[in-house]
Amino acid sequence: MNSRFGIYGGQYVPEILVPALQDLEREYLVARNDPVFLGELESYNRHYGGRETPLYFARRLTERCGGAKIYLKREDLCHGGAHKFNNVMGQALLARRMGKKRLIAETGAGQHGTATAMAAAVLGLKAEIYMGERDVARQRMNVFRMKLMGAKVHEVSSGSKLLKDAINEALRDWSGSVEHTYYLLGTAAGPHPYPTMVRDFQSVIGREIRQQLQAAEGGLPDLLVACVGGGSNAIGTFHPFIEDTGVRMLGAEAAGEGLETGHHSASLSIGEVGVLQGCKSYLLQDEHGMIHEAHSIAPGLDYPGVGPEHSFLKDLKRAEYVGVTDKEALESFITLSQVEGIIPALESAHAVSAGMREATSMSKDQVVVITISGRGDKDLETVFDMGVVE
Ligand SMILES: *Cc1c(COP(=O)(O)O)cnc(C)c1O
Repeated sequence: MNSRFGIYGGQYVPEILVPALQDLEREYLVARNDPVFLGELESYNRHYGGRETPLYFARRLTERCGGAKIYLKREDLCHGGAHKFNNVMGQALLARRMGKKRLIAETGAGQHGTATAMAAAVLGLKAEIYMGERDVARQRMNVFRMKLMGAKVHEVSSGSKLLKDAINEALRDWSGSVEHTYYLLGTAAGPHPYPTMVRDFQSVIGREIRQQLQAAEGGLPDLLVACVGGGSNAIGTFHPFIEDTGVRMLGAEAAGEGLETGHHSASLSIGEVGVLQGCKSYLLQDEHGMIHEAHSIAPGLDYPGVGPEHSFLKDLKRAEYVGVTDKEALESFITLSQVEGIIPALESAHAVSAGMREATSMSKDQVVVITISGRGDKDLETVFDMGVVE
């Protein structure tokens, strides 16, 4: 399997982890063509996860924009409330198939940790989650969710006590425990084979869009829009359409308080090529290669890197990437709630903002599909505290 997307990707890890990654690649290559494995995944997706998720024609949002027809891919209706389900279920089933009884993962805001705890519970595996001490303090309810589902949470007190420190600790754990432990990575980044594997598990989103839109409109979309943190829901949306050159693809990155302020997570828009978490890609770093802290109102977009396939698609100009500010995302969060009765995750609100902007200038017989990566319940306190809704 090719470990690179153009110059991006690769496997920049300590040698001690290389055999584990080779093992994983070997197992995955067999599993992805094994009807038994695919049948199991399909069954969990359907009966436990609630797939397929609806592709909903947003009539009132379409009228509001006055241009292209807007469809919403409802990943917010997946079990757990987000697309993260697709990835954790796939990888947890792979872990079980490999005979590994212990899952480890790192988490920033706790969403991936929660999803991992969920998949571990349903398959009867152990989960241990690494989380920075400062994140633990900010995300008490997600920590409680993980514990409730039986996971152990390790508070990381080294470094800045945030996501990148949790990543370091999880990797340290794995280098001493690979025999019986599976490292469950949360997005389409990290060392090969994770970017490919996570993309494949998330591609269920794009495959369903294709079939559902064929049934609804008898054709392909003109534009796909998704938010980009590490890039997994976006690459899952885009990938099944890469060969269809008539389909435009737009990724919405977090421009935070504005690209000029330095407080953002727009690694594709203004990042530089470097190595993070075992993978070469665009990322936010200083002149010495030290990683910058990322910022976004949406906790899931707050990642200083991006999956390597997006960097490749950007260079090829096959996909475009735009920044959406905290303020614009907040406006779309409220608009979608009021116009369609759907409260999106703040991450997804970035895609809604970019999608609405585009739809407005497109013609009425064109079709835009926006992936709603998750639901907004987790963000209610953040928005409530801003006092922006009467
Ligand atoms: C984690 C998360 C994201 C960002 O992750 P990607 O890998 O970029 O998809 C986006 N939306 C929601 C709801 C999330 O939980």
